[in-house]
Amino acid sequence: MAPPGKKKLAPDPRRALARAAMKARLLPLLLLLCLTPGGCADHATAWRAGAGRESITPPAGVWMTGYASRTKPAEGTAQDLWVKALAVADPAGNRGVLLTLDLCGITREISDRVATEIGRRHGLPRSAVMTNVSHTHCSPFIPGNIAGLRILPADGQKKAEDYARALEEKMIRAADAALRTLRPATLAWAEDEAHIGYNRRENPATDVPGQRAAGKLKGPFDPRVPVLAVRAADGALMALLMSYACHNTTLQFYQWHGDYAGSAQVELEKRHPGATVLFAIGCGADANPAPRGTVELADQHGRALADAADRALAKKMNPITGRFASALEDITLNFARRPTEEQLRIAREKNQSNKEMHQAWSAVVTEKLRTQGEAALRYSYPVQAWNLGSLSWVALGGEVVVDYSLRLRRELGENLWAFGYSTDVMAYIPSERVLKEGRYEGDTSMVPYGQPSPWAPGLEDAIVSKTRELVARTRAGK
Ligand SMILES: [Zn+2]
Repeated sequence: MAPPGKKKLAPDPRRALARAAMKARLLPLLLLLCLTPGGCADHATAWRAGAGRESITPPAGVWMTGYASRTKPAEGTAQDLWVKALAVADPAGNRGVLLTLDLCGITREISDRVATEIGRRHGLPRSAVMTNVSHTHCSPFIPGNIAGLRILPADGQKKAEDYARALEEKMIRAADAALRTLRPATLAWAEDEAHIGYNRRENPATDVPGQRAAGKLKGPFDPRVPVLAVRAADGALMALLMSYACHNTTLQFYQWHGDYAGSAQVELEKRHPGATVLFAIGCGADANPAPRGTVELADQHGRALADAADRALAKKMNPITGRFASALEDITLNFARRPTEEQLRIAREKNQSNKEMHQAWSAVVTEKLRTQGEAALRYSYPVQAWNLGSLSWVALGGEVVVDYSLRLRRELGENLWAFGYSTDVMAYIPSERVLKEGRYEGDTSMVPYGQPSPWAPGLEDAIVSKTRELVARTRAGK
């Protein structure tokens, strides 16, 4: 219908022909513009991204986790803890949301409940929600995580449960904010290096400064700092995700703090106002930062990581093109053996160092064996893969040693980032080499994790094989 008062004119055939000729001349130019970086950001070839965040700093009186030596709740906040969300959508509308948290660990139950609710609200499959915790040891005790560390007093347990419930709400809110603010963006990645960490199994901490200066640190270590830059259509940095494979354990005090990874996020958000900066930890289970012990050192390491991220940003970055695909599947890992009644009794009764930890291990394992029977000797282990066009992300559960990321990148290509501490932090995940060698990462860490025994041999090939399958499938867009 034409507006009232205006006489509708018959179309002029000569004008229509001229318009068609003009369109034909402009079409190649339009196509060219859309292939140029930054051009046609809202065109159907563009990705979209959004970010969200919520503070997850606990209230007073909540117990801390990470170290068996802790004997009381936190005393205050030195740095806020955060859950941050980065949502991405490919040109076809396939979406994923990554949640990174300044926490030591997380349980499968929390990750699954949160992902299910995000999926219900936004129509996402389970595999499109990825969760990674930074492993800061100045963070709260999460019920069911590192459960063999200590049995909390009743009021401490109640506060931990209240905190975990509020945490789930905040994770969902951060994801909501990211998914509701998806807007045209260009995504690109590059890498640099930071030498904050070292292989803690192969080098006594006191030797590290000298050996590092001499270039003589022993054992495998991955210094790479992969960085994903998310820029708005006008080029402004909307979000930045960095990764590093090293324990987040500079600090051991009674204050909430994100450790070096928290300081790196704060530093980069200062340097890039308006950007949401996220940290996802890599396979750094056998790496420690050095030196350790003070907030100044955590800040110093944070600046070193921020410098590496900024150097990566200044490079010619690899653009993300193509499609998003995700997969998450479980494999069954076996524990090596059932602990004997005698072992459980000794752990319960012996007067030894970290006595509360051994008592907690005995109680947790006894209860698991009572309620689950033989099923307590198996574990459903999550392997997740994302394909972001030209880049693959792998998210593995547990504290994964560096051998995995080095092997996965060697076998599947350098355009792959491997995260540990994802979905469920149930134990250390040693390689076959580290499992054979034993010690903390291969054996005795199963006590604070409340697991019955070390893993049975064969876990490395099982995890790598499932990872290869999921990476191949997501790269094929399935
Ligand atoms: Zn650890």
